Amino acid sequence: MHKKLFIPGPTEVAPEVLAKMATPMIGHRSKDASNLQREISEKLRKIMYTQNPIILSTSSGSGLMEGSIRSLTAKRAIVFSVGAFGNRWYKMAEANNVPADKQEADWGHPTTPEVVDKYLATGKYDVMTVTHNETSTGIMNPVAEIAEVKKKYPDVLWLLDTVSSMAGTKIDVDALGVDVCITSTQKALALPPGMAIASVSKRALEHGKQVKHRGWYLDLLELYKYVETKDHQYSATPSLSHMFAMNFQLDRILAEGLEKRYARHREMAEYTRAWARNHFALYPEEKHASVTLTTITNTTGFPVKALNDALGKQGMQISNGYGDLKEKTFRIAHMGELTLDDVKEVTAAIEKILPTL
Ligand SMILES: *Cc1c(COP(=O)(O)O)cnc(C)c1O
Repeated sequence: MHKKLFIPGPTEVAPEVLAKMATPMIGHRSKDASNLQREISEKLRKIMYTQNPIILSTSSGSGLMEGSIRSLTAKRAIVFSVGAFGNRWYKMAEANNVPADKQEADWGHPTTPEVVDKYLATGKYDVMTVTHNETSTGIMNPVAEIAEVKKKYPDVLWLLDTVSSMAGTKIDVDALGVDVCITSTQKALALPPGMAIASVSKRALEHGKQVKHRGWYLDLLELYKYVETKDHQYSATPSLSHMFAMNFQLDRILAEGLEKRYARHREMAEYTRAWARNHFALYPEEKHASVTLTTITNTTGFPVKALNDALGKQGMQISNGYGDLKEKTFRIAHMGELTLDDVKEVTAAIEKILPTL
């Protein structure tokens, strides 16, 4: 039995989108491949609110996170972390010998504009990374406020992880002044896992020229070079199957209407939060709670794993807490293809199961 996924990736994929993965192959150096990439980019620019070029990488989102911090940091990066995925960015810097510092908020709390101001004012950094939506703690960072202080430091590049939020809420990349905005296919975009997506500013690409050892496969400059000079192609063979499915799914997203899509996500989030407050407690500071997933504190100490096993028998799956938050919290994702009715179904099922555990 297929389990409906209320986990923060992979998420449900519509059957007609899955079917597009089975499209017969084309040559990756063909005109058709160029057209496919170009069409995808035009649609992504609408969803990401940017005029910047789009690059795709056949890796998951982590690939372009690692590629961007490595290929764009010439001086030193400041990693603003609010949880596990922020910390991952710091680990990537360390593993690639990229000079970096980490500023980590108390879990459940956001990166504040004050903290960003304080670190950037030192003048030590040419790159900053921010997690838009931290999938471990369920925090959605106040990027509009961060953007305000960031404007004081125009020379610093801004790398933003929107892996679990892009297409679930409006992220106005150009208005915010984000240089590299990264997402992946398997979360709110509701595609199978396997590709990473980024918008990259021209000034970021220019800045990266100073970096000597940028790697190769995930070097943003190398990826962009092929988009620019080879008419939207790639240095290595991309996952054309994902690209067929993506081109189709982006049409579905735009046909739903972005505002309607965001409203659907808000509605699911508000319902889940109210339910969480009623039965448990919200883990993140409420003001900064995510609209694509809800992290709930397990106030009654019930076994989350047992709940998930029981839910599985009914064809549903939620997520345990991430890392150290396992069993102490659990997570209900409400993104991508899911609707309010789905969320009502899973919360009602949980209510029924809990007394039996
Ligand atoms: C899932 C996730 C990642 C990692 O993405 P992959 O596609 O699994 O590599 C990074 N950041 C956030 C916020 C995520 O939710």
